[in-house]
Amino acid sequence: MAFIVKKNIHGKEYYYLNENKRVNGKVKTKTLAYLGKTRKDAEKKAREIIDSKIKNANDKSEKFESTKISIEDLAVFCKRKGFVFPSGEIYGGFSGFWDLGPLGIELFNNIKQSWWKFFVQGRKNMVGIDASVISHPKTWKASGHVENFSDVSVKCKKCKKFNKIDKQELSYAKCGFCHGDLDKESAKDLNLMFTVQIGPIKEDSIISYLRPETAQGMFLNFKNVVNTSRIRLPFGIAQIGKCFRNEIAPRDFLFRSREFTIAEFEFFINPEEEKCEILDEKHLGLKIRILDAETQFMKKKDLKEITIGKMLEEKKLGEWHAYWLAEQILWLKNLGLDMNRIKIREHMKDELSHYSSATFDVDYEYSFGSKEIAGNSNRGVYDLNQHIKESGEKLEIFDEKTQKSVVPKVIEPTFGMERIFLAVLSQAYFYDEKRQNIVLKINPKLSPIKASIFPIVKKPEFEKIAKDVFDLLKEEWNVSHDKSGSIGRRYARNDEIGTPFCITIDEDSSKNKDVTIRERDTTKQIRVKISQLKDVLKKLISQEIRFEKAGKIFKGKIS
Ligand SMILES: [Zn+2]
Repeated sequence: MAFIVKKNIHGKEYYYLNENKRVNGKVKTKTLAYLGKTRKDAEKKAREIIDSKIKNANDKSEKFESTKISIEDLAVFCKRKGFVFPSGEIYGGFSGFWDLGPLGIELFNNIKQSWWKFFVQGRKNMVGIDASVISHPKTWKASGHVENFSDVSVKCKKCKKFNKIDKQELSYAKCGFCHGDLDKESAKDLNLMFTVQIGPIKEDSIISYLRPETAQGMFLNFKNVVNTSRIRLPFGIAQIGKCFRNEIAPRDFLFRSREFTIAEFEFFINPEEEKCEILDEKHLGLKIRILDAETQFMKKKDLKEITIGKMLEEKKLGEWHAYWLAEQILWLKNLGLDMNRIKIREHMKDELSHYSSATFDVDYEYSFGSKEIAGNSNRGVYDLNQHIKESGEKLEIFDEKTQKSVVPKVIEPTFGMERIFLAVLSQAYFYDEKRQNIVLKINPKLSPIKASIFPIVKKPEFEKIAKDVFDLLKEEWNVSHDKSGSIGRRYARNDEIGTPFCITIDEDSSKNKDVTIRERDTTKQIRVKISQLKDVLKKLISQEIRFEKAGKIFKGKIS
């Protein structure tokens, strides 16, 4: 964050704009600009510089090349390459369930780790948990799920398919498949929770549910976390885990399945003390495209461009809510998702969940339509109060700032991890006409395999070096050692699964102790010493340096 400093030189005042930056774990101060000789001038000039910095950051739109692919074709591609398999396929598949394959699990883990690193580790006001998937039955009574989580199933008059509709929307809803009219007479109550029998003997057993959301795990552990962690308000409890919903019509591949992964946190704040001290220009100046409640109320779909700061001014949300909405978008950007495909949708009053007072969906423009990938809601004090009522426990925390015990209010940022996985894949999918193969342009940080190492020809001395390089790199990353087929085939194979760098060993390698690195997206090549390879690759994967600057450009043809 930039700040103004005053320096006294020979009795005169000079003002500068400085910025603290974290470099290799150390905080370093850098002077950005000279601001003049009076405080007033300095403040004006600083404002201008910061505004233009924000503008530049927003305007610097990266170019994303992708080839439109339907959700069905994406499922075929994912199966063919080993990302995702239909669950129980040898028995004809199992609707609504999917298995991650060898590459899929790597990509999925990388997304989860990125999330955990961004939102949990390194934040002093956040801790993580991993709660059980089957919760105490009273949980779902307290949370309102047993009572409220009952949508209705309605048959479409035209296409005859069953739709899951919120009871409140029954009067005006249309078929989600064909927009036809729904047969309201056919409406039947649904319970979207999977029932489980607890105890092996049916007569002595009780009934509970597989969790339909991870949030309750955080509320159930609120007291334990407060008592065992040295945290104070405001703070968050985070979790990534499996959830289960007995969807009536699972569809769109991983998008609407019966078993899925949620990453979310409950962020607890004092209801009377909502100031967010870490909200800075990076958040306030962040530009988003929003479909706001007023526009939807007028039955229109126009997007407005607005900054988070402006949303705050218009009182669409509170400071912490704004902070986390901005951080959510910044993480998605960090993953390499195209910001031009992200939009925010504000919920209208009548569609807010039973617990929420303000909710925003974060939608991503897939090739098969704009769909929700994340959400951000203000759950208020609803959940903790419900559990206080149901359990009789005191779920409060002493706030040192106000010297009072309070039941905190909750902001809840949520992410559908399979949906983000799909967004990453569908955006990365690119058919390269020149190469005549698919190039999966995944952000190197997320790529399942970071580098593939191969000897240019099958010769023992090349293979020995390739093995040594593989051993060197495997300590750090998931790398592969590819020996079969022509070089062209091996490049194509790696392009298709998103391996960002291919490393070839040739005749010069034994002489000069160096290798050729080929970049997936451009097919450009550089020559790098083996002794520097790990360091260079680290910088390339984290995108700290540009490929051309990472080594000596190599123009020779490898084929
Ligand atoms: Zn229909």
